[in-house]
Amino acid sequence: MRFVDFHTHPYRPDDLAPGTREFVRRISPAVREHGDRLADPAFVAELLRAQGAERAVVLAEHCPNSSGNVRTETVLEICRQVPDFFLPFASVDPNTDPEPAALLRRYLDDGAVGLKLYPSYQFFYPNERRVYPIYEVAQERRIPVLFHIGSSVLPNTRLKFCDPIHLDDLAVDFPDLVVIMAHGGRGFWYDACAFLAAHHPNFYIDVTGLVPSRLLAHFPDLGRIADKVVFGSDWPAMPRSPGENAAAIAALPLPPDAVEKILRRNALRLLRLDPAPAAPAPDPGA
Ligand SMILES: [Zn+2]
Repeated sequence: MRFVDFHTHPYRPDDLAPGTREFVRRISPAVREHGDRLADPAFVAELLRAQGAERAVVLAEHCPNSSGNVRTETVLEICRQVPDFFLPFASVDPNTDPEPAALLRRYLDDGAVGLKLYPSYQFFYPNERRVYPIYEVAQERRIPVLFHIGSSVLPNTRLKFCDPIHLDDLAVDFPDLVVIMAHGGRGFWYDACAFLAAHHPNFYIDVTGLVPSRLLAHFPDLGRIADKVVFGSDWPAMPRSPGENAAAIAALPLPPDAVEKILRRNALRLLRLDPAPAAPAPDPGA
Protein backbone atom coordinates (compact mmCIF):
# COMPACT_ATOMS: atom_id res chain seq x y z
CA MET A 1 0.00 0.00 0.00
CA ARG A 2 1.66 3.21 -1.17
CA PHE A 3 1.06 6.41 0.75
CA VAL A 4 2.41 9.85 1.60
CA ASP A 5 2.71 10.40 5.35
CA PHE A 6 1.69 14.01 5.95
CA HIS A 7 2.44 13.97 9.67
CA THR A 8 5.56 12.54 11.30
CA HIS A 9 7.62 13.81 14.20
CA PRO A 10 11.35 13.41 14.55
CA TYR A 11 12.33 11.33 17.57
CA ARG A 12 14.58 13.68 19.51
CA PRO A 13 14.02 12.72 23.18
CA ASP A 14 16.19 15.54 24.53
CA ASP A 15 14.03 18.12 22.76
CA LEU A 16 10.74 16.81 24.13
CA ALA A 17 9.12 17.87 27.38
CA PRO A 18 9.32 15.04 29.98
CA GLY A 19 5.59 14.27 29.69
CA THR A 20 5.79 14.07 25.90
CA ARG A 21 8.89 11.88 26.09
CA GLU A 22 7.19 9.46 28.47
CA PHE A 23 4.08 9.35 26.32
CA VAL A 24 6.05 8.56 23.15
CA ARG A 25 8.08 5.85 24.88
CA ARG A 26 4.93 4.28 26.28
CA ILE A 27 2.89 4.29 23.10
CA SER A 28 5.51 3.62 20.42
CA PRO A 29 6.54 0.10 19.36
CA ALA A 30 9.08 1.73 17.01
CA VAL A 31 10.83 3.50 19.90
CA ARG A 32 10.87 0.30 21.96
CA GLU A 33 12.25 -1.70 19.07
CA HIS A 34 14.75 0.74 17.56
CA GLY A 35 15.51 3.26 20.33
CA ASP A 36 18.33 5.66 19.47
CA ARG A 37 18.57 4.41 15.89
CA LEU A 38 15.51 6.58 15.23
CA ALA A 39 17.85 9.57 15.47
CA ASP A 40 19.37 8.48 12.13
CA PRO A 41 17.36 10.01 9.26
CA ALA A 42 18.58 7.44 6.72
CA PHE A 43 17.47 4.59 8.99
CA VAL A 44 14.04 6.18 9.50
CA ALA A 45 13.56 6.79 5.78
CA GLU A 46 14.37 3.15 5.07
CA LEU A 47 11.96 1.99 7.77
CA LEU A 48 9.08 4.09 6.41
CA ARG A 49 9.82 3.29 2.77
CA ALA A 50 9.71 -0.43 3.58
CA GLN A 51 6.12 0.10 4.73
CA GLY A 52 5.07 1.83 1.53
CA ALA A 53 5.74 5.51 2.27
CA GLU A 54 6.71 7.52 -0.83
CA ARG A 55 7.38 10.72 1.07
CA ALA A 56 7.06 11.88 4.68
CA VAL A 57 6.42 15.33 6.09
CA VAL A 58 8.56 15.96 9.19
CA LEU A 59 7.12 18.46 11.66
CA ALA A 60 9.03 20.84 13.85
CA GLU A 61 7.38 21.51 17.21
CA HIS A 62 8.39 24.75 18.84
CA CYS A 63 6.16 24.63 21.91
CA PRO A 64 8.55 25.48 24.75
CA ASN A 65 5.73 26.02 27.27
CA SER A 66 4.15 22.61 26.79
CA SER A 67 4.94 19.62 24.56
CA GLY A 68 8.49 20.24 23.44
CA ASN A 69 11.04 22.21 21.56
CA VAL A 70 11.95 20.45 18.34
CA ARG A 71 13.18 23.45 16.38
CA THR A 72 12.85 23.97 12.65
CA GLU A 73 16.64 24.04 12.34
CA THR A 74 16.70 20.44 13.60
CA VAL A 75 14.02 19.34 11.14
CA LEU A 76 15.76 21.05 8.22
CA GLU A 77 18.97 19.25 9.11
CA ILE A 78 17.17 15.87 9.27
CA CYS A 79 15.43 16.40 5.95
CA ARG A 80 18.59 17.52 4.19
CA GLN A 81 20.04 14.06 4.79
CA VAL A 82 17.34 12.29 2.72
CA PRO A 83 16.05 15.10 0.50
CA ASP A 84 14.17 12.86 -1.93
CA PHE A 85 12.05 11.47 0.90
CA PHE A 86 11.59 13.92 3.77
CA LEU A 87 9.70 17.23 3.55
CA PRO A 88 10.39 19.75 6.33
CA PHE A 89 7.58 21.75 7.95
CA ALA A 90 8.62 24.73 10.07
CA SER A 91 7.25 25.65 13.48
CA VAL A 92 7.08 29.14 14.91
CA ASP A 93 5.63 30.12 18.27
CA PRO A 94 3.53 33.31 18.32
CA ASN A 95 4.18 33.68 22.05
CA THR A 96 7.93 33.18 22.38
CA ASP A 97 9.34 33.99 18.92
CA PRO A 98 9.62 37.81 18.83
CA GLU A 99 8.97 38.02 15.06
CA PRO A 100 7.36 34.76 14.00
CA ALA A 101 6.42 35.91 10.47
CA ALA A 102 9.98 37.01 9.69
CA LEU A 103 11.28 33.77 11.19
CA LEU A 104 8.93 31.76 9.00
CA ARG A 105 10.18 33.61 5.95
CA ARG A 106 13.73 32.67 6.87
CA TYR A 107 12.80 29.00 7.37
CA LEU A 108 11.11 28.92 3.96
CA ASP A 109 14.23 30.43 2.40
CA ASP A 110 16.20 27.65 4.12
CA GLY A 111 14.05 24.91 2.60
CA ALA A 112 10.88 24.43 4.69
CA VAL A 113 7.87 23.60 2.50
CA GLY A 114 5.07 24.05 5.03
CA LEU A 115 4.21 25.27 8.52
CA LYS A 116 2.81 23.49 11.57
CA LEU A 117 1.03 25.52 14.23
CA TYR A 118 -0.09 24.17 17.58
CA PRO A 119 -2.85 26.40 19.04
CA SER A 120 -3.40 24.18 22.10
CA TYR A 121 0.32 23.87 22.90
CA GLN A 122 1.28 27.42 21.95
CA PHE A 123 -1.78 29.10 23.44
CA PHE A 124 -3.31 31.30 20.76
CA TYR A 125 -6.59 31.35 18.85
CA PRO A 126 -5.96 30.90 15.12
CA ASN A 127 -8.02 33.99 14.28
CA GLU A 128 -6.16 36.40 16.57
CA ARG A 129 -5.04 39.39 14.52
CA ARG A 130 -1.55 39.25 16.02
CA VAL A 131 -0.86 35.97 14.18
CA TYR A 132 -2.14 37.21 10.82
CA PRO A 133 1.34 38.26 9.59
CA ILE A 134 2.29 34.56 9.75
CA TYR A 135 -0.57 33.68 7.40
CA GLU A 136 0.35 36.54 5.08
CA VAL A 137 3.75 34.94 4.58
CA ALA A 138 2.26 31.45 4.18
CA GLN A 139 -0.31 32.64 1.65
CA GLU A 140 2.24 34.65 -0.33
CA ARG A 141 4.67 31.71 -0.44
CA ARG A 142 1.85 29.24 -1.18
CA ILE A 143 2.73 26.81 1.59
CA PRO A 144 0.18 24.68 3.47
CA VAL A 145 -0.42 25.38 7.15
CA LEU A 146 -1.16 22.38 9.32
CA PHE A 147 -2.93 23.14 12.60
CA HIS A 148 -3.21 20.75 15.54
CA ILE A 149 -7.00 20.62 15.87
CA GLY A 150 -8.28 18.13 18.42
CA SER A 151 -7.73 16.51 21.77
CA SER A 152 -4.35 15.66 23.24
CA VAL A 153 -3.12 13.75 26.26
CA LEU A 154 0.05 15.78 26.61
CA PRO A 155 0.49 17.89 29.76
CA ASN A 156 -0.33 21.62 29.63
CA THR A 157 -2.68 21.28 26.66
CA ARG A 158 -5.37 23.97 26.51
CA LEU A 159 -8.05 22.54 24.28
CA LYS A 160 -10.14 25.66 23.90
CA PHE A 161 -7.65 27.04 21.36
CA CYS A 162 -8.33 24.06 19.06
CA ASP A 163 -12.01 24.67 18.42
CA PRO A 164 -12.12 24.67 14.60
CA ILE A 165 -14.61 27.54 14.51
CA HIS A 166 -11.63 29.86 15.05
CA LEU A 167 -10.26 28.75 11.67
CA ASP A 168 -13.37 29.83 9.84
CA ASP A 169 -12.22 33.48 9.74
CA LEU A 170 -9.13 32.41 7.80
CA ALA A 171 -11.26 31.22 4.88
CA VAL A 172 -12.55 34.79 4.58
CA ASP A 173 -9.41 36.75 5.40
CA PHE A 174 -6.93 34.47 3.56
CA PRO A 175 -8.89 32.86 0.73
CA ASP A 176 -5.79 31.37 -0.91
CA LEU A 177 -4.30 29.95 2.30
CA VAL A 178 -4.29 26.14 2.49
CA VAL A 179 -5.47 25.16 5.98
CA ILE A 180 -5.14 21.54 7.10
CA MET A 181 -6.87 20.43 10.29
CA ALA A 182 -4.65 17.76 11.83
CA HIS A 183 -6.56 15.10 13.79
CA GLY A 184 -9.84 16.23 12.24
CA GLY A 185 -11.15 17.72 15.49
CA ARG A 186 -10.43 14.52 17.47
CA GLY A 187 -12.77 13.92 20.35
CA PHE A 188 -15.06 16.94 20.01
CA TRP A 189 -15.27 18.52 16.58
CA TYR A 190 -15.45 15.92 13.80
CA ASP A 191 -18.65 17.41 12.35
CA ALA A 192 -17.28 20.96 12.43
CA CYS A 193 -14.07 19.91 10.64
CA ALA A 194 -16.01 17.93 8.01
CA PHE A 195 -18.23 20.96 7.43
CA LEU A 196 -15.28 23.35 7.06
CA ALA A 197 -13.44 20.96 4.71
CA ALA A 198 -16.53 20.51 2.58
CA HIS A 199 -17.38 24.20 2.35
CA HIS A 200 -14.07 26.03 2.18
CA PRO A 201 -12.12 25.31 -1.02
CA ASN A 202 -8.72 25.39 0.69
CA PHE A 203 -9.56 23.56 3.93
CA TYR A 204 -8.46 19.97 4.48
CA ILE A 205 -8.55 17.28 7.17
CA ASP A 206 -5.50 15.23 8.17
CA VAL A 207 -6.67 11.96 9.76
CA THR A 208 -3.57 11.54 11.89
CA GLY A 209 -4.20 10.03 15.30
CA LEU A 210 -7.64 8.63 14.43
CA VAL A 211 -8.27 4.88 14.48
CA PRO A 212 -8.78 3.94 10.81
CA SER A 213 -11.66 1.56 11.54
CA ARG A 214 -13.52 4.47 13.21
CA LEU A 215 -13.04 6.98 10.38
CA LEU A 216 -16.44 6.43 8.79
CA ALA A 217 -18.10 6.78 12.18
CA HIS A 218 -16.35 10.13 12.69
CA PHE A 219 -16.88 11.27 9.08
CA PRO A 220 -19.91 9.51 7.56
CA ASP A 221 -19.39 11.53 4.35
CA LEU A 222 -15.71 10.63 4.04
CA GLY A 223 -16.20 9.36 0.48
CA ARG A 224 -17.79 12.64 -0.55
CA ILE A 225 -15.01 14.77 0.92
CA ALA A 226 -12.22 12.46 -0.27
CA ASP A 227 -10.66 15.36 -2.21
CA LYS A 228 -10.21 17.21 1.08
CA VAL A 229 -8.54 14.56 3.28
CA VAL A 230 -4.90 13.58 3.71
CA PHE A 231 -3.29 10.68 5.53
CA GLY A 232 -0.80 11.09 8.36
CA SER A 233 0.46 8.90 11.16
CA ASP A 234 2.06 10.86 14.05
CA TRP A 235 4.90 8.34 13.77
CA PRO A 236 6.68 7.31 15.96
CA ALA A 237 4.08 8.41 18.55
CA MET A 238 1.52 5.82 17.52
CA PRO A 239 0.57 2.33 18.69
CA ARG A 240 0.75 0.74 15.25
CA SER A 241 2.75 1.55 12.13
CA PRO A 242 1.98 3.95 9.27
CA GLY A 243 1.84 1.00 6.86
CA GLU A 244 -0.76 -0.79 9.00
CA ASN A 245 -2.90 2.34 9.24
CA ALA A 246 -2.69 2.96 5.49
CA ALA A 247 -3.74 -0.64 4.83
CA ALA A 248 -6.65 -0.28 7.26
CA ILE A 249 -7.85 2.84 5.41
CA ALA A 250 -7.57 1.01 2.09
CA ALA A 251 -9.81 -1.71 3.57
CA LEU A 252 -12.64 0.74 4.35
CA PRO A 253 -15.77 0.52 2.18
CA LEU A 254 -14.73 3.47 -0.02
CA PRO A 255 -14.23 3.69 -3.80
CA PRO A 256 -10.59 2.89 -4.75
CA ASP A 257 -10.24 6.38 -6.19
CA ALA A 258 -11.21 7.95 -2.84
CA VAL A 259 -8.63 5.80 -1.04
CA GLU A 260 -5.93 6.78 -3.54
CA LYS A 261 -6.76 10.47 -3.04
CA ILE A 262 -6.67 10.20 0.75
CA LEU A 263 -3.50 8.13 0.94
CA ARG A 264 -1.41 10.01 -1.59
CA ARG A 265 -2.83 12.09 -4.40
CA ASN A 266 -4.17 14.99 -2.31
CA ALA A 267 -0.91 15.17 -0.39
CA LEU A 268 1.19 15.23 -3.55
CA ARG A 269 -0.98 18.04 -4.91
CA LEU A 270 -0.76 20.09 -1.70
CA LEU A 271 2.99 19.58 -1.56
CA ARG A 272 3.23 20.43 -5.26
CA LEU A 273 4.99 17.17 -6.09
CA ASP A 274 4.63 15.06 -9.20
CA PRO A 275 1.39 13.10 -8.91
CA ALA A 276 2.56 10.53 -11.46
CA PRO A 277 2.62 6.99 -10.10
CA ALA A 278 5.89 6.31 -8.34
CA ALA A 279 7.73 3.01 -8.49
CA PRO A 280 5.93 0.38 -6.41
CA ALA A 281 7.17 0.24 -2.84
CA PRO A 282 8.43 -3.02 -1.36
CA ASP A 283 5.74 -5.29 0.02
CA PRO A 284 5.87 -4.91 3.85
CA GLY A 285 5.09 -8.60 4.22
CA ALA A 286 7.94 -9.69 1.96
ZN1 LIG B 1 1.44 15.13 15.64
